[in-house]
Amino acid sequence: MAKRGMLIVLSGPSGVGKGTVRKEIFSQEGNKFDYSISMTTREKRPGEVDGKDYYFVTKEEFENEIANGGMLEYAQYVDNYYGTPLKYVNEMLDSGKDVFLEIEVKGAMQVRKKCPDGLFIFLTPPDLMELRQRLINRGTDDIAKINKRMKTAVEEIEMMQNYDYAVVNDEVPRAAEKIKTIIRAERWRVKRFLPDYKKQLGDALK
Ligand code: 5GP
Repeated sequence: MAKRGMLIVLSGPSGVGKGTVRKEIFSQEGNKFDYSISMTTREKRPGEVDGKDYYFVTKEEFENEIANGGMLEYAQYVDNYYGTPLKYVNEMLDSGKDVFLEIEVKGAMQVRKKCPDGLFIFLTPPDLMELRQRLINRGTDDIAKINKRMKTAVEEIEMMQNYDYAVVNDEVPRAAEKIKTIIRAERWRVKRFLPDYKKQLGDALK
């Protein structure tokens, strides 16, 4: 049986650039982990593709998934549901593949409880004023929505202590590189490495 894969969770406040950093990481060749596509009830934005950016579903479909135990985690965020389908994650981890989630903080905390062995990385903005500016520049939300997101963001920053690593998103390629370095190093953490090594030694002694 393959060694179970590692669950990698990238989280952080809304507008910090999680999606952009994740896309930067996955635009590069040679990653030894797969992206878990999330499910959402929010409207598709221009250029987004169903089954690539998200699985876009209705509220009813999403609630059915929850009721059927089909979600690893989910959260209601700015009036929509977002969540991670459990089946794909389990299949990948069971086959020994590492899986990468990019999710907001409430969902990340649910995953932390269910999978304490995961790797939890918090992406953080250089400062909060810049976060507000980024949300304004993105132009997808009105000022009331931006204020709501800012309030949530302040609370989220306080949640950093629940993570294993923090990465400042000052420049996207640099943040992406740091995250990949963390993942590489984490694979060689003794607690991840030793059980497999012991097993190999055990087999050799039989
Ligand atoms: P957006 O609407 O901008 O694509 O995403 C809004 C927020 O939802 C972002 O913070 C994003 O990281 C988060 N998000 C995306 N997918 C998931 C998911 O599967 N679960 C949770 N909890 N949050 C998600």
